[in-house]
Amino acid sequence: MTLPSVLGDGPRAIDVHAHPPTREFLMDAGGPYMHDAADAFGAEMDTSTFDEMRAEYREAGIDRAVLLAWDAETTTGRPPVTNEYVATARDEHPDFFIGFASVDPLKADCVETAERAVLDLDLDGFKFQQIAQGFDPSDPAHEELFTTIEDLGVPCVFHGGNTQFGGGTPGGRGLELRFGDPMLMDALAARHPDLDIILAHPAFPWEREQLATCLHKGNVYMDLSGWLPRYIDDQVLHYARTLLKDKVMFGTDYPMLDPARWMADFAELGYDESIQRKILWENAERLLGL
Ligand SMILES: [Zn+2]
Repeated sequence: MTLPSVLGDGPRAIDVHAHPPTREFLMDAGGPYMHDAADAFGAEMDTSTFDEMRAEYREAGIDRAVLLAWDAETTTGRPPVTNEYVATARDEHPDFFIGFASVDPLKADCVETAERAVLDLDLDGFKFQQIAQGFDPSDPAHEELFTTIEDLGVPCVFHGGNTQFGGGTPGGRGLELRFGDPMLMDALAARHPDLDIILAHPAFPWEREQLATCLHKGNVYMDLSGWLPRYIDDQVLHYARTLLKDKVMFGTDYPMLDPARWMADFAELGYDESIQRKILWENAERLLGL
């Protein structure tokens, strides 16, 4: 699998949304919730190593990946993928992984954990999955946490839209989709203009709200992870190559989606070379300060 040759040499793609393909994420943190998601994606729950993951990415022509920690322990009762674990993976593959931390906003020590993640572990951002974590980012109760992250000067990824985590089960295992509404992050962005926010995934069924906040807030961006390009809402695809071409980034949601398959599907869209470069790596390179 190779990218269109028009992209030439040099860095060709940065995946801004990847989870560990290991037991720590799929089995320990995810457990039954992840089984539901894997069923929905038609993905296997087979684990693999970071070396195997890296080989897969190389094969797909992807140079780097943002690796995400995960802590939704209060709501799910499952153990976290710790920030230390992600930092260790990054240290073992420093030219491949960019490490993003996770803090559970319902834990009393979340502010200290956030500070440690950046100052001690040198992680480069945060990932929130508000549906799994059961919190509303616009709730003033979390103000200290987001003021701290804004001061630390690193970006936050927020889950956007529906989730398959716990999907298809009675009551969705108790999780509430409303926390995936982009308007909650719009409110947060309004109060924290120096906090860069990436709305992960085309935020079904709120893609239009997502596009609106990306247009309105200079500090809000989005990625295309979690969906093969052929299934992404037409209006999102339209904005990605026009008004939001400097704000939309490539992501997979690995290991739920196969990187080579995503890249091949993206090439099928036939975007101009300059737009492909922006989406595949230039926008991420700029935002992450690489
Ligand atoms: Zn994800």
